[in-house]
Amino acid sequence: MVSKLQEVERLLNRLSDAMEDLRSDGLSDDDIHCITKELELISESKGKTKKQIRRDLLTHYERFYKRHNDNALAKMVNGVCQACFVAVPSSKRMRVRQAKQIEYCENCGAILVFEETEEDRERQEELKKK
Ligand SMILES: [Zn+2]
Repeated sequence: MVSKLQEVERLLNRLSDAMEDLRSDGLSDDDIHCITKELELISESKGKTKKQIRRDLLTHYERFYKRHNDNALAKMVNGVCQACFVAVPSSKRMRVRQAKQIEYCENCGAILVFEETEEDRERQEELKKK
């Protein structure tokens, strides 16, 4: 049971690494596929170690998989989740941008991946001037 839990932790870490890569390289279909696969593995392990896994994660996956089944990632474009088109709170936007940890859309539960747009770049430039 403990090793299963470690396996899940390991997968989550790999997911974080993947998110880190996304920060520098942008998002490709391969990346999405890769990360979605990782999430499937986590989800499978989850069934076996249900009680051991952190409650928040469990709740998240259960809610999420019921709704999406498929692609667990959503791009955040101009601060809006592209899965449900609800605006992401500004404090969270910054964290998604930095991609230091996995951030979920509060509305639909998708894992948010930052995609820079012209508008974002301009806004960032504005901030630097101040
Ligand atoms: Zn969403």
